[in-house]
Amino acid sequence: MRPEILNPLFISIEKLKGIGSRYYKLVAGLCQGSKVVDLLWHLPINVIDRTYGDPLKYAQSGHIWTGKVKVLEHIVPPTKKQPYKIIVTDGTADLTLNFFKYYKDSLQKGMPLNSYKAISGKLEIFNSALQMNHPDYMVSVDKLAELQSIEPVYPLCAGVSNKMLLKLQKQALSLVPTLPEWQDENFLIKQHFMSFNQALYMAHHPLKPSDVENDSPARKRLAYDELLANQLALCIARQRVKKQQGRSIKGSGLLRKKLLDGLGFNLTSAQERVLSEIFTDQASSYQMLRLLQGDVGSGKTVVAFLTMLNAVECHMQAAIMAPTEILAKQHMETMSAWADMVGIRIELLTGKIKGKKRQEILSDLALGKIDILVGTHALFTEDVTFKNLSCVVVDEQHRFGVNQRLELTNKGVKPDVLVMTATPIPRTLVLTQYGDMEYSKIDELPKGRKPVDTRVIPVSKLSEIVAALKRKISNKTRAYWVCPLVEESEKTDLAAAEERYKTLQKIFGDKVGLVHGKMKEKEKDAVMERFKNGDINLLVATTVIEVGVNVPEATIMIIEQAERFGLAQLHQLRGRIKRGYEASTCILLYGYPLGETSRERLNIMKNSEDGFLIAEKDLELRGGGEVLGTRQSGFTQFRLADLSVDKDLLYTARKDAELILQTDKNLESKRGQALRILLYLFEQDKAFKTYKAG
Ligand code: ADP
Ligand code: MG
Repeated sequence: MRPEILNPLFISIEKLKGIGSRYYKLVAGLCQGSKVVDLLWHLPINVIDRTYGDPLKYAQSGHIWTGKVKVLEHIVPPTKKQPYKIIVTDGTADLTLNFFKYYKDSLQKGMPLNSYKAISGKLEIFNSALQMNHPDYMVSVDKLAELQSIEPVYPLCAGVSNKMLLKLQKQALSLVPTLPEWQDENFLIKQHFMSFNQALYMAHHPLKPSDVENDSPARKRLAYDELLANQLALCIARQRVKKQQGRSIKGSGLLRKKLLDGLGFNLTSAQERVLSEIFTDQASSYQMLRLLQGDVGSGKTVVAFLTMLNAVECHMQAAIMAPTEILAKQHMETMSAWADMVGIRIELLTGKIKGKKRQEILSDLALGKIDILVGTHALFTEDVTFKNLSCVVVDEQHRFGVNQRLELTNKGVKPDVLVMTATPIPRTLVLTQYGDMEYSKIDELPKGRKPVDTRVIPVSKLSEIVAALKRKISNKTRAYWVCPLVEESEKTDLAAAEERYKTLQKIFGDKVGLVHGKMKEKEKDAVMERFKNGDINLLVATTVIEVGVNVPEATIMIIEQAERFGLAQLHQLRGRIKRGYEASTCILLYGYPLGETSRERLNIMKNSEDGFLIAEKDLELRGGGEVLGTRQSGFTQFRLADLSVDKDLLYTARKDAELILQTDKNLESKRGQALRILLYLFEQDKAFKTYKAG
C-alpha cells in the first residue's frame, strides 16, 4: 500500500482548479501522466526574466521589459490587415503596443484611456520608435510586483499555454507534503544537496537560465532521487532472485567435449570467459539470472547451446525461447544439427505445431524424453509442463522487462535464466534496465570477419544505386532493400514499401520479393524461404528482418531514409549482411533536409562497426529512451534524470542501493522507511511488493 503521506500527489490533475476535461487530456499528454506527480515532474526548460524595467527613455531593446505605464491613445487601423496600436508612456518616453490579432472591444475595455497598467513583453525598436508586439501581460497596477519576477517556461503543446501551466503547477506544489529525508545525511552534505522539498520547489522556481540545466543543484538532487529509486527497486529484485534456491548444475563435460570437437571452429576467448561465468552460476545452489550481451555475429547461439547442454548432462531439461517463429525455426535448424552431433533430443514447439505432433511433444516433455525445447515467448504463458526444467534461455529480448523476469523466476520451477540480447546496450542502460541481473558480455567477434563497406548517399542518387545493384546481384549475391517503418504511420510506410517493391519489380522482374509486418506468418516465411534458397535475390522489407534472420549470401543492404532509424536499429540491420564470408556493402540513403545531428549519426554508422561504441554515441546524441526505442519497448524512462549527463550519479546510486540493502534488507530502519516512500513516489514499488510476497 502506498504510504498515506503521498496520497495528495497521486490524485488526478482533473481535480485541480481551472482544468476542464479537454484541457485535462492535453495536460496529461504533455506531462506523460494524469497524476499530480506527473505534473510535478514536468520541469521548466527556460526562464523569462521579467525584472528588467529601466526608464523607457534609456531602456534597451531586445529585453523583456516590465513596468507601469499610462494609456495615451488607441489607434484603430483602417483595415484588418494593419495592427491595432495603443500608445502608452512610463513618463520618460512613449511606447507603441502592436496587436496583429485582436478584439477591438476587449482592448478598449481592458486598456481605457488615461488608465495606469502594469505590462510586460519584449521591447523592440522599429523606425527608431519603441514598440512591443503583443505584450505577454497587461494587468492592473497592483500586480506589478508579482509580475516583476523570473518566470519559468515549461515545455508546452498546442492548447496548453505557459500561463495555464503556471497556475496548475502552483496548485500542485501546494499539495506536496513535507517528506522525510531518504538520503544519507553525510552524502547530502558532501554533494551539497538540498532537501527533496526544497529541490522540487527550486526546480519550479528557477532564478536564472542555468537553474533549468540538468546540472543545477536542485535538478541533480531530484535526478539522484529518481535514480536511487530505480536502482533500489532493481537491487531488491536481484536480492530476491539470489535468495531463491535453485539446483546445482555441474555437467560431466562429456557432451560438451563432443560438441566442441565437432563444431569446426574454436570458441573465442570471450565466448570461453562468458561460459565460465555461466557455469559458475549454474554450479551454485542459487538460481541464475544473467544477461548475455553480444554484438550481432559474436556467437551467442553456441554459448546458449552449451549452457543448455550443461543442464542436459545432469539429466535435466532446457528451453530456449525466441521472439518470433522465424527465429525459433532458425535456432532449431542450427541446434538440431548440434543435438544430433552429441546425441540428444531437441524439439520445436510453436503455435503452428498442432494436433497429434503437438500432443506427442507435450507428453514427451512431461515424461522427460525431450532434452531441449525450442519455442517462442508464448511458451511462458502456455500450459507446457516439463519433467525437470532447469535452464531457460530467452533470446533477443526487448520487451522482457524486469517485472516479466520477476514473474518467470517466480514460477513453481526455478530454472536458471539466461537472457540474450544482441542490442549493444551502454553500461548505464544495462544498470537501469537490467540492474537486477548478473551480466556477461561477448566483446570479441570470431576471427576472419570482413568489414562492411558503409556509405552515406542522398536519395537523389537512387537511380544510380539501382543500376549498380542490377550489375551486382545474382544467385550468389543477394540484397536487402529496407524501407522505414515508423509506428505512427504504419499504413503510409507500408504503402511506401509496396510502392518501392513495384518500381523495383519493373527492373528486376520476379527476382524481387516483399516482406512486411502486416503479412501473415506463413506468407512471410514463404518469402524468406525463397530468399534463402535464391529464388529471389532482392528482398524489399520493412524492419521485420531486423532480428536474427540468417542468409549468408546476402551481402548488400540498402536502407532508405536511414536518418529515421535509431543507430542501434541500423546496426542490427547491418548485422544481417555480416553473416557470410564475402565482403559486404551497406548503403544508407537519406532524404533532404538532413539536420546536423542526423548527419553526425549517419557518419558514426559509416565510421564504426563497434555496436557498443555506436550505442554510446547514440546515447550521447539522443538520450537513453531513444536508443532502446523506449516507447515501443516499455523500458523505463526517466522523468528527471538524463543518462547522457547523470552517468556518475547512476553509479553512485547503484552503490548506495547495494549498501542500503546490505545493512537494512527489508527497509525497516528510519531511513529504510523513508526509502519506501521514495520507491512509491517514483512508482518503483512493484519490485518491492513482489519481494515482500516472495
Ligand atoms: P549471434 O551472436 O548474432 O547470435 P551467432 O551465434 O548466430 O551470432 O553466430 C554467428 C556465426 O558465427 C554462426 O555461423 C556461428 O556458427 C559462427 N561462430 C560462432 N562462434 C564462432 C567462433 N568462435 N569462431 C568462428 N565462428 C563462430
Ligand atoms: Mg542470435
